[in-house]
Amino acid sequence: MIIVLKPAISKKDENEVLKEIKKLGYKPHVMRGVERTVVGAIGDERTHQSLEVLSSWPQVESVMPVQKRYKLVSREAHKTTSTIKVGKQIIGGKKFQVMAGPCSVEDEMQLMKTAHAVAKAGATILRGGAFKPRTSPYEFQGLGEKGLKLLAKARRETGLYVITELLSEAHAELVAEYSDILQIGARNAQNFQLLIAAAKTGKPVLLKRGLSMKIEEWLLAGEYVLSNNNPNLMFCERGIRTFETYTRNTLDLSTIPIIKKESHCPIIIDPSQGAGRADLVVSMCKGAAAMGADALLIEVHPNPAEAWSDGAQQLSLEGFAKLMEELKPFIAAAGRD
Ligand code: PEP
Ligand code: MN
Repeated sequence: MIIVLKPAISKKDENEVLKEIKKLGYKPHVMRGVERTVVGAIGDERTHQSLEVLSSWPQVESVMPVQKRYKLVSREAHKTTSTIKVGKQIIGGKKFQVMAGPCSVEDEMQLMKTAHAVAKAGATILRGGAFKPRTSPYEFQGLGEKGLKLLAKARRETGLYVITELLSEAHAELVAEYSDILQIGARNAQNFQLLIAAAKTGKPVLLKRGLSMKIEEWLLAGEYVLSNNNPNLMFCERGIRTFETYTRNTLDLSTIPIIKKESHCPIIIDPSQGAGRADLVVSMCKGAAAMGADALLIEVHPNPAEAWSDGAQQLSLEGFAKLMEELKPFIAAAGRD
């Protein structure tokens, strides 16, 4: 921590600050400038009590941390890039991965048709919500366990792995039984007890960015997974809330280089929730692939106009197959297969 003292304070006032810094377990290092004195407090801010209390002292102008608050998710702690094994597939490796499927699992026909189509087009992981986090309680809430069973059936029939959302701690074991990756949704991105419960299942966790979540908060939420002995964490950008109304959310593609720089965990882009409009999804996918995202999470439906949730943003089966073809040069541009 750096503690900037107010100009022209007395020696006695300065000594009181130095005494407090020592009391909290840090070693003060005093640097005297022409106008003011700055104290560097040496010690690990993550294992010692915070010095932020000093910011309210009358002789202190400001207190600034120099260390990052996250540890296990950071590249400092883990220099090599992490990869996540999902069955025979690797996320974060040389192969660019595509997770695709409907927003919600609706019925057997809808799911099987979509699963076969996305597998044929080259996706390796099937998405589909069985427990849906809906803004209104009067909207379709998902099929629950019946939906999980349909996902398991699609997995058996197509060989696709399954990602589905975990909405409640109470369902952690149940959802983990049917799913290869647990999705933590934007609305639950800072539900820390849920993150711990997800981590404890031992399944890989895909953590969406919260609706208005700062990147530091997102990384710290991820820290809950890693610090609960689950190394298989991936971050998923799905757009944040801004003043813009042209799109449903503002998809923040800057998170690709930022997460790559700050963390060793894979970064996935969800352009469907990100844009909220099917006509923008293809461009967003191309941009994300070229920028080095590790995977995409895309909503696909046999008949988007009749979808029970998120109809406007889902690609048709044909639209998805076309996208997968068009994506190839962008994936290659990022040095991936
Ligand atoms: C979804 O993937 O269908 C979903 C609800 O996502 P998010 O949590 O990003 O809104
Ligand atoms: Mn959706």
